[in-house]
Amino acid sequence: MPPEEFRRWGHEAVDWIASYLRDVGEYPVSPSLRPGDLLRALPSTPPESGEAFADVLADYRDLIVPAVNHWNHPAFFGFFPSTGSAPGILGEMLAAALNVNTMVWTSSPAGTELEQLTTDWLRQLVGLPEGFEGVINDTASSSSLYALAAARERHVPEAREQGLGAAPRCRIYASEQAHSSIDKAAITLGLGRAGVRHVPADEEFRMDVGALRAAVREDLGKGVRPVAVVATLGTTSTASMDPADTVADVAEEHGIWLHVDATYAGPAAALLERRHLFQGWERADSVVINPHKWLFTPVDCSLLLCRRPEWLRAAFSLTPEYLRTVEDGGVKNLMDYGVSLGRRFRALKLWFILRYFGVEGVRARLRGHIALAQGLAEQVQREAGWELVAPVHFGTVVMRYAPPGEDPEALDRMNAAILERVNKSGEAFLSRTVLRGRVAIRLAVGNLRSTRAHVERAWELLRAAAREAEGELAA
Ligand SMILES: *Cc1c(COP(=O)(O)O)cnc(C)c1O
Repeated sequence: MPPEEFRRWGHEAVDWIASYLRDVGEYPVSPSLRPGDLLRALPSTPPESGEAFADVLADYRDLIVPAVNHWNHPAFFGFFPSTGSAPGILGEMLAAALNVNTMVWTSSPAGTELEQLTTDWLRQLVGLPEGFEGVINDTASSSSLYALAAARERHVPEAREQGLGAAPRCRIYASEQAHSSIDKAAITLGLGRAGVRHVPADEEFRMDVGALRAAVREDLGKGVRPVAVVATLGTTSTASMDPADTVADVAEEHGIWLHVDATYAGPAAALLERRHLFQGWERADSVVINPHKWLFTPVDCSLLLCRRPEWLRAAFSLTPEYLRTVEDGGVKNLMDYGVSLGRRFRALKLWFILRYFGVEGVRARLRGHIALAQGLAEQVQREAGWELVAPVHFGTVVMRYAPPGEDPEALDRMNAAILERVNKSGEAFLSRTVLRGRVAIRLAVGNLRSTRAHVERAWELLRAAAREAEGELAA
């Protein structure tokens, strides 16, 4: 594409983005689409000869965008929503322009050093002490896999050369509310799903540390080797907080690696009034936080902070000759901290975002989200027939329509129907979870454009859907 042609389409694309970000609230949040609809609308074979870029952009507008679930929409409250903010989009664009590969310092000095800088800025933002070194990965699933690989390296050093064949049974401990990425990491690391012991959680979905202590003792008695304890700060279902401090006591007592999964809630540690909830995470060996979950960063961007980066290097460093560089002694080569050799220049968008919003700007927006969620929680508590399923610490509200006297199975169907009805309205998008075997509805606030009016409209839709679902059940 000649430079002048690029300029033309580049301007066109940026104009489209600016209008989209301005108008996204007017789109239906989620498309009314059946699986396969988009595939059926597109040619199944690649074009033999190049097409006019105008046609490509037109199909983007007419076919792709209508098939998008709009995460940037102010009434997108599903999963953990986060706006891919404008400075982040510009960062993505300019990083793609440079197209550097941050394998080793020599392959991308700016990529390497800006990653060191921005990850340390984030460490300071959330109040973790010096000594935690950061790397950026694609997702928290990768970050936790790498952290647990470092833990395995420390506790089962024979595994790296010999595999696990000769090693004793190994175990990772996590609460029953922990994210499935911990189980996936255990599968990938060869520990198997039986290698994860899911410790019961209490009535507020926090890990029961007494049960953790008993589980570790029982395993040690049987010759099982503990590899890591995972504390989740901000679980996926309810954003509940494991008591990191007492979990750290158990990990320290037995010298076990402590990994903290703060993928979603981590940024909220920037708020001094919330920081007590994180008490003890500074004792962790590794911490994962996703800027793409609640820090306005376009996917993907996951921060792994490690207080023992030497174990990450011990797990992964394996330098083929062609990657040896004269600088090896004095520089950080990011390929040594995980599986990927090639790495995107993700630090650029993060740097843009932190500079554009500033620490106070980030705090103000997180506070705004928490206030919206707490306002909703109060209304849910006051509303007859509705209940709050979990305490609201951050932007996530978990609720259930449960008028007294109904059979729990019927209520499950009713809550599923309520959610479907709201999502089909195109006015708001929420997601669900299952807690103690029962269906619950999750509304998470994390978008920069969400206002009180959006949350209140979603609440109106929920109540209306509940009345209708009740009517259908009675009919
Ligand atoms: C979302 C989530 C993950 C996984 O994050 P990815 O970046 O999508 O891999 C891990 N842990 C928790 C607590 C999460 O909420």
